[in-house]
Amino acid sequence: MAKTIYLDNAATTMVNPKVVDAMMPFFTEYYGNPSSIYSFAGKAKEAVEDARAAIAGILGAKTEEIYFTGGGSESDNWALKATAEMYGSKGKHIITSTIEHHAILHTCDYLEKQGFEITYVGVDENGRIKLDELKEAIRPDTILISVMAANNEIGTIQPLKEIGAIAKEHGILFHTDAVQAFAHIPINVDEMNIDMLSASGHKINGPKGIGIMYIRKGVKIGSFIHGGAQERKRRAGTHNVPGIVGMGVAAKIATEEMQERMAYECKLRDHLIERVLTEIPYSRLNGDRTNRLPNNTSFCFRFIEGESMLILLDQAGICGSSGSACTSGSLDPSHVLLAIGLPHEIAHGSLRLTLSEQTTMEEIDYTVDELKKIIERLRSMSPLYEDFVKKNAN
Ligand SMILES: *Cc1c(COP(=O)(O)O)cnc(C)c1O
Repeated sequence: MAKTIYLDNAATTMVNPKVVDAMMPFFTEYYGNPSSIYSFAGKAKEAVEDARAAIAGILGAKTEEIYFTGGGSESDNWALKATAEMYGSKGKHIITSTIEHHAILHTCDYLEKQGFEITYVGVDENGRIKLDELKEAIRPDTILISVMAANNEIGTIQPLKEIGAIAKEHGILFHTDAVQAFAHIPINVDEMNIDMLSASGHKINGPKGIGIMYIRKGVKIGSFIHGGAQERKRRAGTHNVPGIVGMGVAAKIATEEMQERMAYECKLRDHLIERVLTEIPYSRLNGDRTNRLPNNTSFCFRFIEGESMLILLDQAGICGSSGSACTSGSLDPSHVLLAIGLPHEIAHGSLRLTLSEQTTMEEIDYTVDELKKIIERLRSMSPLYEDFVKKNAN
């Protein structure tokens, strides 16, 4: 197999050619600034509003509650920092989870330095947030609960409806980082009592550098990027019209095909999990077996060092990632794997393979065949493994 097998769709996705086609005219033909008055810009303005309406429809939101941003990280920063700024006089306590994306965790670090107090609620061994701990963490000065919809490393889907109900009961704002979940699994902001939600174009076969923030009407957070009057004066900057069009079309396609795609990806995912766990000794699946993104698999292999495994997979034409993908160059194991209770030495041997609707069964089988060989080879060079086998033999 000479072709690349791309199994890192949680990191980013291929832009759907239909999305590219929809974007193209907005570079060379309808390139007007949608904020301009003349009719030449009308087409661009209309396209931006169509995309906004489509995304609102998918979330069960009102069109005017959708704001375009520069991506998932910006939306996460906006939600946390602007809530802190606007509601800080009411209270300085924020609740989040131990397994959030760094766009949330590092923003929380920043807010701690600004005098906010953050409680990090733990997760169980499958990565599901401990709801009892969440309830206990609530204080009179709590202004925000931010818990991700689905985890980017281990694929665990959080009980959003339950979290939303708890937040609502206590009159606390609820933000969710839905970058991995939006247009992959059903989300409804009213049913789940979500007040703010972040999503990103490039995780749904759309372009990079475009995202959205849903802000429920009545939530009073201010602007994060100051400048012009775009986005109801809440997010300045000339609209990224091709990006917005691309994200809108990508979201529409993903939603129309969601059921079919979920069923297909689940079939591949379950086959991959089944083969790895039965054919590779001392392997484990990370994350919840059922409350799991359809395209996510995450494993740990004992006596294996994640980086070496990734390099050998790359030589076989397979793109995967370890838990520490975002902090490449660092040897720290993933905070998510540590949070689900794995010891360092096991967390180091992690591998995340994330699928798309383009992935084929042949690619999955080839990947498992190669992975088996790679793990055998690495273990044959491991003194730890040798000792372990000897000990078990006696
Ligand atoms: C990718 C990702 C982000 C960041 O989104 P960008 O658009 O790349 O800035 C945030 N949160 C989660 C869960 C992600 O997977």
